[in-house]
Amino acid sequence: MSKPVILTVDDDQGVSAAIARDLRGRYGAGYSIVRATSGPEALAALARLALRDQPVALIAADQRMPQMTGVEMLERARAHAPGAKYVLLTAYADTDVAIRAINDIGLDHYLLKPWDPPEERLFPVIDDLLDDWRQANPDHTSDVRVVGHRWSDRSHELKMFLARNHVPYRWYDIEADAEGQRLRDLAQAPPTDLPLVLIPDGETLRSPSALELAGALGLRTSARQPLYDVCIVGGGPAGLAAGVYAASEGLSTVIVEREAPGGQAGASAAIENYLGFPKGLSGSDLARRAIAQVSRFGAEMVLARDVMGFEARGPVRAVLFDGSGEIEARSLVVATGVSYRRLEAAGVDGLVGRGVYYGVNASEASQCQGDEVYVVGAANSAGQAALNLARYAGRVVLVARAATIAATMSQYLITRIEAAPNIEVRYRSEVAAASGDGHLERLTLTDTGSGAVEEVPASWLFIFIGASPRTDWLGPAVVRDDKGFVLTGPDIIGSGRGKYWQLSRAPFALETSVPGVFAAGDVRLDSMKRVASAVGEGAMSIYLVHRYLATI
Ligand SMILES: Cc1cc2nc3c(=O)[nH]c(=O)nc-3n(C[C@H](O)[C@H](O)[C@H](O)COP(=O)(O)OP(=O)(O)OC[C@H]3O[C@@H](n4cnc5c(N)ncnc54)[C@H](O)[C@@H]3O)c2cc1C
Repeated sequence: MSKPVILTVDDDQGVSAAIARDLRGRYGAGYSIVRATSGPEALAALARLALRDQPVALIAADQRMPQMTGVEMLERARAHAPGAKYVLLTAYADTDVAIRAINDIGLDHYLLKPWDPPEERLFPVIDDLLDDWRQANPDHTSDVRVVGHRWSDRSHELKMFLARNHVPYRWYDIEADAEGQRLRDLAQAPPTDLPLVLIPDGETLRSPSALELAGALGLRTSARQPLYDVCIVGGGPAGLAAGVYAASEGLSTVIVEREAPGGQAGASAAIENYLGFPKGLSGSDLARRAIAQVSRFGAEMVLARDVMGFEARGPVRAVLFDGSGEIEARSLVVATGVSYRRLEAAGVDGLVGRGVYYGVNASEASQCQGDEVYVVGAANSAGQAALNLARYAGRVVLVARAATIAATMSQYLITRIEAAPNIEVRYRSEVAAASGDGHLERLTLTDTGSGAVEEVPASWLFIFIGASPRTDWLGPAVVRDDKGFVLTGPDIIGSGRGKYWQLSRAPFALETSVPGVFAAGDVRLDSMKRVASAVGEGAMSIYLVHRYLATI
């Protein structure tokens, strides 16, 4: 497989040679460093690379060049390298241009020249961007190989598990890749063994469960200690923030996550309203950073385990896993967020993972190259997904029930959707049915105003129609509203459910009706349903855990 490319573009021969030298010294083992000395030369090089199917990971272009500015060049580069990271090299005087380019062309970073010493001013930025690119493009960087059918829901499930747990993998479609067929033959795998997962120096896994795969990859799937100070259920932004604060403040901490750390935020293509990231950052990038932070402080992470039950055993709070296993702790933070609501339309359930998806990850987005894609929903998550998919797809149709999306989507997303030439919003429409032989082939769309029905060919449908909490496992003692959101603090007393609270002291702000059990983030009644508020509540829950522990 050819190495991914880092392309540098600068008309000044001296500067061009210097940056290429610096980049080659640090990244030469994993990447080919290609140099161009003008915008047109760079675009010609990109076209050649696209023909050879050689991936481009990063383009670093000087802003001030005679024939074409760096921003103009990068804007045109999207056609050949849609997933590459873009860096602009600027003089101080061009800072405004660079900041505008973040919005206008999706610039990832700008670097002020000169970048000496590179160890401080160049490499940390490039390391971060390449990390992010590698996560989004595992096919080009990994040794774990997955062999299966493109439209198999099991293949989809395992690819999602690997991607969301930040394990790079290479995907082989058994119908399209000769290498996939060769690997299947070598493994002598009958159809029932697919998908295969080949782990370097490990065994060949045959249609493994997420738990088996996690075990084979060396991810922790059970707790080490008999008792923790705090157990956090859910590894989304709220749970990860709680983990960082708890572990950094010396509490023995375990986080249990059933799918992958990052939660809903991990599925977001671009979080643009989280403080401190002016360009925004992808959910998977945020999750990766948070996991590193949690691990650095020594919190334990138990993965691929679904918490199915809760018991208060005197002062001990216990959570029970699906199958076997449990964790005991002196306090519990419930940070289980919300899960996607299912689309009630004929045929949809049978095609999930076979062209129909709840949410979208980077690997699906890039597989839509040139295709027609349907997105259902009218909130920010649907808008973000439409914009992300439009980078790859030929056309994206956003299906919205209402006559406008202004009431449900932020204006900055609407403005971008309106400006995108390949996104169409289909108002007053809903998906009535989905059908296909083994994978999605057709959608039936209904005009909710006129009742007119239209059948359209479609191989991709991404659904974003809201979400609800799944909190049945908490049992009757932890009070919830009729939708399943957990009541905390003053809401317990104020809701007329004071009878559920047994202590003479009032419950702490994020404490549930069971003392020592806290709720943080989207799962909590009346929470704000944003990354920043989930992170804030996760952090605050630990302050309250300390106060609770001081009472027992
Ligand atoms: C596509 C998309 C885009 C978004 N974009 C933005 C944005 O740009 N800006 C913004 O501020 N917000 C955004 N949001 C909202 C934001 O992601 C959520 O508000 C935030 O993730 C909530 O965090 P949380 O930790 O409370 O819950 P979640 O993120 O839902 O995490 C809960 C975690 O708990 C795990 N879990 C659940 N039940 C169990 C169980 N029984 N056992 C073990 N684990 C369990 C889940 O697998 C999940 O990982 C977006 C949401 C989506 C879906």
